[in-house]
Amino acid sequence: MVLAQEESFSIEEVSVAGYEKVYKVTNKHVGLNAIICIHSTAMGPSLGGTRIYPYSSYEAAMSDVMRLARGMTYKSLLSETGWGGAKSVIICDPKRGKTREMLQAFGLAVNSLGGEYICAEDVGSTPEDMALISQVNPYVVGLPYEDSSGNPSPFTAWGTFRGIQSALHKLYGSDSLENRVVAVQGLGSVGWELVHFLFWHGAKLVVTDIDAEKCHKVAKATGAQVVSPEEILYVPCDVLAPCAMGGVISEKTIPRLRCRAIAGSANNQLMKDSDAEELFARNILYAPDFVINAGGLINVSSELDPQGYNPFAARRRVDQIYDKLVLIYNIAQQNRCSTQKACMMLADYRLKYGVGKRVEPPCFHHALQKKT
Ligand code: NAD
Repeated sequence: MVLAQEESFSIEEVSVAGYEKVYKVTNKHVGLNAIICIHSTAMGPSLGGTRIYPYSSYEAAMSDVMRLARGMTYKSLLSETGWGGAKSVIICDPKRGKTREMLQAFGLAVNSLGGEYICAEDVGSTPEDMALISQVNPYVVGLPYEDSSGNPSPFTAWGTFRGIQSALHKLYGSDSLENRVVAVQGLGSVGWELVHFLFWHGAKLVVTDIDAEKCHKVAKATGAQVVSPEEILYVPCDVLAPCAMGGVISEKTIPRLRCRAIAGSANNQLMKDSDAEELFARNILYAPDFVINAGGLINVSSELDPQGYNPFAARRRVDQIYDKLVLIYNIAQQNRCSTQKACMMLADYRLKYGVGKRVEPPCFHHALQKKT
């Protein structure tokens, strides 16, 4: 079904099994090729980042956006933020092809959905990009303004840190990081913050990044041991924290892992859901990614609370990632299943009975301010 079509602009709804709505958005004038993928709005309007990436093909973009949108449904269900799950992608090299016109054409497409999808910063997009989009579309969060939630990464990093503590507690009966060995893969926005939290709590760090400069800086600041990107997954450690990219835990890598737990921020760490069963069989505790890395979502969604963004409220809720994970570990133990399976059981229950469903509509303060 074509929802809007002008000479160069079109929003076409494509039918994808298991997904509520998927829109293909194009604007030839400004070189926009995008997909907005709404997995579910059962719990509330859908919220998810806008990834700008030079996908090799439309099919590659579609497969990524579908995986990410579904992940957002579960992330929201388990963090009880009352959002549906969605994601969007713009097929473009963010370093070269991104323009104001392109972003605003995308914003107009989001606006035309009347609030069923709320976009946010993601890989390849910035708070400044969101500000440009907000000029034509109120349904956007993560803006670079004083009353907005700002950079999500410190909140994601703190949630990940709390998740590491929960894993240690499960393994050793104590949250203490003193002399615990934590291997961190990726020293970007999240990994950088995380290694500093870990350092100050007494952990022994082993780190890597494909950017040698980042490794050098972290080693200097924290005394971390630097290993190569090829080695990090196989380092003997208490906790392995993947904070770079997805798909790192797979049937290829699992047999060589030497960690007691996996607790990191990266999205889609498991190559496939069944990899969690293999981790369970090998007694490696896995903190499911969409629970441990929900700090950014929790922070950004607090921007839409009726009372406006409050960092203390966001911090309190991010802190609770610890308790959420303890609950998951307990469900897994009682059911003798993997933590991933326990997560899905809990999420499916919440979805079925509407537990955590949004009752208050989101409040777009930045748009209200513009009107007054
Ligand atoms: P980022 O792009 O800032 O950092 C990623 C880092 O990983 C970079 O320093 C990069 O050089 C490094 N890297 C890439 N490939 C690598 C490899 N093969 N080996 C080692 N290092 C490698 O991203 P980020 O914002 O820090 O996010 C990290 C992960 O957490 C991503 O998977 C992201 O999707 C996820 N995540 C981030 C947030 C957030 O708030 N930023 C929220 C939820 C999930």
